[in-house]
Amino acid sequence: MVMDVRSYAASSAVTPLAPFRIDRREPRADDVVIEILYCGVCHSDLHTARNDWGNTTYPLVPGHEIVGRVIGLGAEATRFKLGDAVGVGCLVDSCRHCDCCDKGLEQYCLNQATYTYNGVDRHDGRPTQGGYAEKIVVSQDFVLRIPDGLDLKGAAPLLCAGITTWSPLRRWKVGAGSRVAAIGLGGLGHMALKLAKALGAEVTLFTRSPGKEQDARRLGADRVVLSTDAAQMAAVAGRFALIIDTVPYVHDLNPYVPTLAVDGTLVLVGYLGPLDPMLDSAPLVMERKAVAGSLIGGLAETQELLDFCGQHGITSDVEVIRIQEINEAYERMLESDVKYRFVIDMASLKA
Ligand code: NAP
Ligand code: ZN
Repeated sequence: MVMDVRSYAASSAVTPLAPFRIDRREPRADDVVIEILYCGVCHSDLHTARNDWGNTTYPLVPGHEIVGRVIGLGAEATRFKLGDAVGVGCLVDSCRHCDCCDKGLEQYCLNQATYTYNGVDRHDGRPTQGGYAEKIVVSQDFVLRIPDGLDLKGAAPLLCAGITTWSPLRRWKVGAGSRVAAIGLGGLGHMALKLAKALGAEVTLFTRSPGKEQDARRLGADRVVLSTDAAQMAAVAGRFALIIDTVPYVHDLNPYVPTLAVDGTLVLVGYLGPLDPMLDSAPLVMERKAVAGSLIGGLAETQELLDFCGQHGITSDVEVIRIQEINEAYERMLESDVKYRFVIDMASLKA
């Protein structure tokens, strides 16, 4: 029997999100039915709701930082039991047999991973809808275990903001003494600071906002560089092995390249699109530097992150909102007025 579920949806790029009913499928053999308790608010939700990337299908229920409890199981779903605290991130399926899936890189599935929202279910062809909803039904292989003791609302943003910064930290082998920087102190940026610090790195924040220094230090930054101040930028020349750039909109990368060490990498996780101004290749060639990109993380890597956070007591700094406040939250996110992640208390859907 299909479930009729309360949610909040965008019906076009220019209309505010509003109450909406969606169907959730009857669980398939390997499915887990989850009652959603909290859902983080990612800048990608806003980009997609407003069709910034030109590929949104409406109506759209955003939300891919989902935490909840198992309330139902398909006939062959054995990995979880009723009542378990679980999470769902940006992925709900993939082909499961290509080279990338075989390596645990489901996010790069060569046959197109299925995203939690604005995707198409590979079995029934229906649009996928995200976590601004009462319930979700997901194959058990795409469900994560939330470690005991982690605050559930603070754990929700680990499912996207956390894994998106964890994956490059691991890929570029950050450890004790590594010199790492994040650009932008928002949802992703604050997780980058916490995680890099916990890995033992020397951590720097680049920000355009003068008021964020104290928070940045509390979150793990050893140093804060105002990116609009040329003297502060020059003071960190040649310093970083890895820079994680979380800025969501087009911006000039050229001033950051000189702050990389020889062999250093600036990895883009925020902005998608052509660079403007253009990137000067000369400083890359002359010092074997790289500009790279990275997309969320695979399932095993996400579980690794959650377990690491469980061991180290790491969660996101959250501001809990009611679903009725989501449109205001989007406006505040656009103004970087959030410390440092909005999380929706899904009980408010029933109000
Ligand atoms: P967020 O909370 O809004 O934070 C972005 C931060 O970037 C802001 O706090 C601000 O920091 C800085 N910033 C914002 N606008 C800027 C501008 N025009 N120029 C320079 N700096 C600016 O966003 P988020 O949720 O962390 O997401 C960041 C980006 O990552 C989004 O584009 C999102 O879609 C993307 N994302 C990518 C992946 C992936 O897999 N690659 C996953 C999740 C999200 P300061 O005030 O400190 O400068
Ligand atoms: Zn996200």
